Amino acid sequence: MSILLPDMLISKITDISIETLKQRNIKGLLLDVDNTLSTHGGQKPLEGLLEWIGHMKSCGIKLIILSNATLKRVEPFAKKIGLDHISVALKPLAFGYLRGLKALDLKAKEVAMVGDQLFTDILGANIVGIFTIKVEPISPESGISFIIRRWLEEKILKRKLKG
Ligand SMILES: [Mg+2]
Repeated sequence: MSILLPDMLISKITDISIETLKQRNIKGLLLDVDNTLSTHGGQKPLEGLLEWIGHMKSCGIKLIILSNATLKRVEPFAKKIGLDHISVALKPLAFGYLRGLKALDLKAKEVAMVGDQLFTDILGANIVGIFTIKVEPISPESGISFIIRRWLEEKILKRKLKG
């Protein structure tokens, strides 16, 4: 089960401080989009996101979007917030993460994945040996598959907090 657990749990991406990253020698971040940087399918950046990105870049942190969504969904948003992107990443398969590491020109141990889903973002990053940071989804999705997934995620995370 531990392969599904994040190394760090936070409320939102803008809570990540430069000190937190420096302490762990993290030099780059792979960023999920849906429910991490914006609402699901949305084009509006999370409040404070642009300032946070500017701060991270000015401190030398490399950033790239790693999303399972289509190019059509990801590209306009990536342009809007000024980041490179990998779409149709096929998380949790290792392939997309490895492309992300190559694009950042960093090693797995120098990078963290930031995302809202245990079964894609966190699982795949753990497999590749990338530090994992889970955010709370910006807004809950509707639909039965999401409801089941969120319910399972809550059970897994509760177990972690107890242990
Ligand atoms: Mg997501």
